[in-house]
Amino acid sequence: MLDVQKIRKDFPILNRTVNGKPLIYFDNAATSQTPQQVIDVIVDYYSNYNANIHRGVHSLSQEATDAYEQARNKIQKHFNAKQSHEIIYTAGTTHSINLVANGFSSLLKKGDEIIVSALEHHSNIVPWQMFCERTGATLKVIPMNENGELILSDYDALLNENTKLVFVNHISNALGTINPIEYIIEKAHAAGAAVLVDGAQSCPHLKPDVQALDVDFYVCSAHKICGPTGVGMLYGKEEWLNKLPPYQGGGEMIAEVSFEKTTYAGLPHKFEAGTPNICGGIAFGAALDYMNAIGFENIAEYENELLAYGTAELQKIEGLKIYGTAKEKTSVISFNVGTIHPYDIGTILDKMGIAVRTGHHCAQPIMDFYKIPGTIRASFMFYNTKEEIDAFIVALKKAIMMLS
Ligand SMILES: *Cc1c(COP(=O)(O)O)cnc(C)c1O
Repeated sequence: MLDVQKIRKDFPILNRTVNGKPLIYFDNAATSQTPQQVIDVIVDYYSNYNANIHRGVHSLSQEATDAYEQARNKIQKHFNAKQSHEIIYTAGTTHSINLVANGFSSLLKKGDEIIVSALEHHSNIVPWQMFCERTGATLKVIPMNENGELILSDYDALLNENTKLVFVNHISNALGTINPIEYIIEKAHAAGAAVLVDGAQSCPHLKPDVQALDVDFYVCSAHKICGPTGVGMLYGKEEWLNKLPPYQGGGEMIAEVSFEKTTYAGLPHKFEAGTPNICGGIAFGAALDYMNAIGFENIAEYENELLAYGTAELQKIEGLKIYGTAKEKTSVISFNVGTIHPYDIGTILDKMGIAVRTGHHCAQPIMDFYKIPGTIRASFMFYNTKEEIDAFIVALKKAIMMLS
């Protein structure tokens, strides 16, 4: 079981006020908050062993290198990758996706097809559009139904011998839908296509096992799992990472350089040009330690309770419509109230210390599907409480009264 009052003490930011009211932070799908245990690791790094890695013979450089590589091993273990060099440090999900899209540009040709889902974040749409322009490949989209679930029979019909890649998020950031990635991966592989799963939203709530999933690429950002911004990872099967060309040239990613020819370093360094976010990588490992100590089963169970409670309370409000009612979903609730603009509600909630997201949530095609400009999105993490949901409902009712 999860002791939420004890957990809340780990997050200094949860003690602050906003506009004179205690902060209620319900914008976790955009970024999560950072526990003291991770902040301490960041302070320790810059206070005690800040140095560039892999290059120095001196002690600080070796300490920093050890900590950075140990964190890579933690990430490997967490996602159950077979080998640590299958974990590539990146600046986050967006960077990881662009790395893979860039690599595939040299492998695909006109007539090849790639498939994305209707539920994607812009970071999993735009790189592929750019990719199709470069390669002449065609982009196909798995449609969704009114509940915000992908229509799998349509997916089956899209797959054919020209399909080379399938890109899908594990969990939709706009609606909270958990996609059946096991099915999607199995079918793609049967058609001879590779699969990239965007795990930015799943990693805070679930513990994916990349070997059990047999996924080809899996990507996420540390800042959505209680870690710092600007760091994330790309998991890729070794055979795929060997096939893809490097993304950026520079230091750290080479074996030998001359003006005639440069040879590239092996994995993972081939994809890690330049000085990386060293402290960020170490803190990413610490964030996974923190979440694993609480336990992902406990986290999921508690967050499901918050989701059920929040959904039931919101549904009592007249004129309120929830978007995304998939059977399988996580603690994200997207909604609108009558014809009130989401932005107006968000602004009033902020005056009352409540942070929610309003807008299209980087998923405009989903908003177009529902023919709405955007939604209000409340997203919960394991450090949120039912009492906060109660206060949110009271504030929301006030906002609705003021605006109608
Ligand atoms: C947040 C998010 C991203 C983008 O992550 P960055 O850290 O901004 O690169 C991509 N996909 C999903 C589903 C997300 O929730």
